[in-house]
Amino acid sequence: MKKLNLESLNHTLELKTLIEIAQWCFETFNEKEVILSTSFGAEGSVILDAFLQVNRNLRVFTIDTGRNFQESYDVWQALMDKYGISIEVYGPDPEELYSLQTTQGPNHFYNSKEFRQNCCHVRKINPLNKALKGIKLWISGLRKSQSSFRQGLEIISYAEERGVYKLAPLFLWEEDTVWKYIRNNQIPYNKLYDKGFATIGCSPCTRPVGRAEELRSGRWWWEVDSNKECGIHLVDGKMIRKKAVTDFSI
Ligand code: SF4
Repeated sequence: MKKLNLESLNHTLELKTLIEIAQWCFETFNEKEVILSTSFGAEGSVILDAFLQVNRNLRVFTIDTGRNFQESYDVWQALMDKYGISIEVYGPDPEELYSLQTTQGPNHFYNSKEFRQNCCHVRKINPLNKALKGIKLWISGLRKSQSSFRQGLEIISYAEERGVYKLAPLFLWEEDTVWKYIRNNQIPYNKLYDKGFATIGCSPCTRPVGRAEELRSGRWWWEVDSNKECGIHLVDGKMIRKKAVTDFSI
């Protein structure tokens, strides 16, 4: 049984390079119980590149919602080809999707926030829960400066409801540092960024943003009071926060 003090660990991880965070990760957790999620945004690709340098057995998954952009499929293939890796894919349950589409139609999410959340639940959250079965550490590309809603997170936190630790290795990185890494290491990137997109989501629900706008303002732009989160990083409508001290076995 190992004891993880998240408060001091966050201070420690803040001072580590990306490679050092990856090393810490695989020294602390069993590689089979660690997984990186990517929606083929720039952040996920940076983490993928760095963590593969430390462990070629890094597990990676994506969620194919069925409404993704072609550009996301293109970079998905390019990353698999470049690194010679597998990427696990999860998607909506066919029966749930059948029911959703039959009763609400293909674009019901524009009609109300509740419909939109239903769609995100079927297409994203339920597949995510499947992907996280048996996982102890979930790595994601969250960054503090992506939105005011994400400011209160930490590099590592514990999502009690899902029973996983969440690691955001780029939490303190700024956007230009991410892009410098992508360019310097010639990593395939999603061509939607060249068209003004700042984040990568489903095609009917993501649009380009202006320079002065928050990066996530291109998501669900028709919702005025939205926190611009699909629910993957939320529990009961709130961002998942850390617990100060937690024991766990690895
Ligand atoms: S982002 Fe849009 S299309 Fe994708 S799951 Fe959510 S509501 Fe559905």
